[in-house]
Amino acid sequence: MNSKAFRPASLKAALEYLAKNECLIFSGGTDLMVQYARGTGLAPTFPRPPLFLAQIPELRQIEVSAKSIVIGAAVTLSELLSHPDIPLIFKDIISQMASLPSRNTATIGGNICNASPAGDTLPYLIANDASIRLQSLSNERVVLLSDFFTAAKETILKKDEVLTKITIPRTNFNHHYYQKIGQRKGMSLTKASMLGLALIENGKVKELRIAFGAVAPLIVRDLAIEKQYLGLRNDKLLDYEEEICRQYSPLIKPIDDARSTAAYRKAVSLRMLRDFIKQLSKAQE
Ligand SMILES: Cc1cc2nc3c(=O)[nH]c(=O)nc-3n(C[C@H](O)[C@H](O)[C@H](O)COP(=O)(O)OP(=O)(O)OC[C@H]3O[C@@H](n4cnc5c(N)ncnc54)[C@H](O)[C@@H]3O)c2cc1C
Repeated sequence: MNSKAFRPASLKAALEYLAKNECLIFSGGTDLMVQYARGTGLAPTFPRPPLFLAQIPELRQIEVSAKSIVIGAAVTLSELLSHPDIPLIFKDIISQMASLPSRNTATIGGNICNASPAGDTLPYLIANDASIRLQSLSNERVVLLSDFFTAAKETILKKDEVLTKITIPRTNFNHHYYQKIGQRKGMSLTKASMLGLALIENGKVKELRIAFGAVAPLIVRDLAIEKQYLGLRNDKLLDYEEEICRQYSPLIKPIDDARSTAAYRKAVSLRMLRDFIKQLSKAQE
C-alpha cells in the first residue's frame, strides 16, 4: 500500500487536504481493493495516496424528516439495512448486494461514485429522484443523481470534490417490484435488474417509476414513457404491455461480458418488465 495516506477527523479537514493534494478518495474500499489488487498475498498499490472518509462523523449520519431521507455518503450498506426509516424495498435491494462482511464496510457513496451501471443502489435512487451534494473547500452543489453520470464509470465529480450526502424524497408508492439477476443468490454482481414503483389509487396509476440496471452504460429510466401511463386504469395496463415493451426495448442496450450475454440481458429485462406490468394490472387499490 502507498505509504502516504490521510485520515481526517472532519469533513473540513478532508476538503482542505483534497484542495491541496491529488488523492484517491477511499470509503469502504470494496471496489478499490479489487481495482488495485496485485494478487494473492500482495497489498494493493494505489496510484495516489488514499484519503480515508469512513471515519468522518458528518458523512456517517442518516437524517429523516417528513419530506426526505438524507444519507451521509460514508453510511455503510449494513447501517442502511438496520435503520428503521429506510424503505423496505430499498432494504430488499441492499440485502442482495455482495456479502455480509462486504456490506459492513461498503458505503452508499462508494456505490454511487464507482459509477458502474451494475451498482445496485442506483436504480432505486434514480427512480426516486434522489439528489446528491458534492462539496469542495470553496464550493458546494446539489445535482440530481441522474445528472451525475456521464458514461459507464464516468461522472461529473471534480478532482477536489467529495460526495457528502444523498437526499431521497419521501414517497408513498404502494406497489414495489425488484428483481436482480445474478449468477447466484449471494456475492454476485448484477447481470440485469429492474425496479418498478407505482402508486395505484382508486384503480388508477397515479405514479409510475421504472428503472433498469446493468443493461446500458447508464441506468435506464425514461420520464416521458412513465408519464404516458399516468391516469390510466391499472387493470387496463395489460392492453399496453406490447407497447410498453416496444418503448423500452431500444433503451435496453446491454453488452456481452464475462457475466452474461447481451441477448440474455435484453430478454430477461423485457421479461421482468412484463412481469411488473402483469402484477400492476392485477393490483387491487
Ligand atoms: C465480492 C464483491 C461483491 C460485490 N457485490 C456487489 C453487488 O452485489 N452490488 C453492487 O452494487 N456492488 C457490489 N460490489 C461493489 C462494491 O462493494 C460496492 O460498489 C460498494 O458500495 C462500494 O462502496 P465502497 O465504500 O467500498 O467504495 P470504495 O471502494 O471506497 O470507492 C469506490 C469508488 O468511489 C469513490 N468514492 C467513494 N466514496 C466517495 C465519496 N464520498 N466521494 C467521492 N468519491 C467517492 C472512490 O474513489 C472509488 O472510485 C461488490 C464488490 C465485491 C468486491
